[in-house]
Amino acid sequence: MTPKKTIGIVGGGQLGRMSALAAARLGLNCVIYTPESGSPASQVCDQTVVAPYDDAVSLKRFASMVDVITYEFENIPVETIEILKQEKPVYPDSNLLDISQDRISEKSFLNDIGIPTARWVKVEDEEKLHATLEEWESEACIIKTCRFGYDGKGQIKYNKSQKLSVAIENLHGDLIAEEIVDFSDELSVITARDYGKNIVSYGPMLNIHKNHILHKTITPAPFAQDIADQAIEMAEKLAEKLDLTGLLTLELFLTRDGRLLANEIAPRTHNSGHWSIDACAVSQFENHIRAVAGQPVAPPAPICPSEMLNLIGDDINTIDRYLTQSGACVHLYGKDSAKPGRKMGHITFLNPTNED
Ligand code: AMP
Repeated sequence: MTPKKTIGIVGGGQLGRMSALAAARLGLNCVIYTPESGSPASQVCDQTVVAPYDDAVSLKRFASMVDVITYEFENIPVETIEILKQEKPVYPDSNLLDISQDRISEKSFLNDIGIPTARWVKVEDEEKLHATLEEWESEACIIKTCRFGYDGKGQIKYNKSQKLSVAIENLHGDLIAEEIVDFSDELSVITARDYGKNIVSYGPMLNIHKNHILHKTITPAPFAQDIADQAIEMAEKLAEKLDLTGLLTLELFLTRDGRLLANEIAPRTHNSGHWSIDACAVSQFENHIRAVAGQPVAPPAPICPSEMLNLIGDDINTIDRYLTQSGACVHLYGKDSAKPGRKMGHITFLNPTNED
């Protein structure tokens, strides 16, 4: 029998909460580290260390309470993980965090290992950017902050007719310009890899966004088999090249002319994998915990088609209609105020019908 381990989770959001619930099912305890008291993850764990991410004393105390450490979101300072790594093993390794925190290192890494992305360039000045747009034969591009962008925050559509300095005045730090992808679909693959280098993947999932935030995830996704195979191959190649122990997500575009382009790496469980809690034998959260705890990962083994609907902000007020609906699996994250854009919960519809 594998020795019982206590897992430390850095970050207290819903991803940490659902990972901790999966750990509990495997008989494992979790301790949460978060700057915020009463966080969604702390509500389902016995112990939480509430302290800032740069508090070395608290980080060491947290490490002393656990056997192994993971994290549930990508914007944790790499220095935090470096401090923790001196005390206890951290999975996934901080190389993944480092790469995925910066769009330039992320795209460079993907391109270096042969995974295509939209064409991109670091934004330096207006003249150079216009020269690049000419090369791309395009009038416009998307400009994104290299760090801390999510759910469409920290990005703008830029047109050559605009003055660059004015267009980017609200974007901070280094910037990247990407060609505008003419995509038919957005999809993702989630891959878990264990200490024995066994690998399993979820998806690809078809993701539908509203206002740049994930709205719905549909599985199985209606893609041709060769597209599905290619997407999985890309995510698994990425996991292997990183020598991953843990779980990652690769977000992709399917272009109208049938090409797959990687958009982003999430070094963690992902909103597009929430369906796996109810519609798979082993969820993304369980495989994440297994890999981190030194247990083997297992095939997801989907049970039935599903559709996951996010409850964002005031959507939470519609919850009553789902509570009595057959096949609707309701998940709420224990957040008390429904701010606009805030992920409050989700519903997974099993064997969905058009009415769902
Ligand atoms: P991101 O923050 O990179 O995940 O982007 C958020 C959303 O913006 C994506 O889910 C797409 O819908 C859209 N988007 C991002 N990059 C591009 C691109 N290069 N071309 C077209 N749409 C994009």
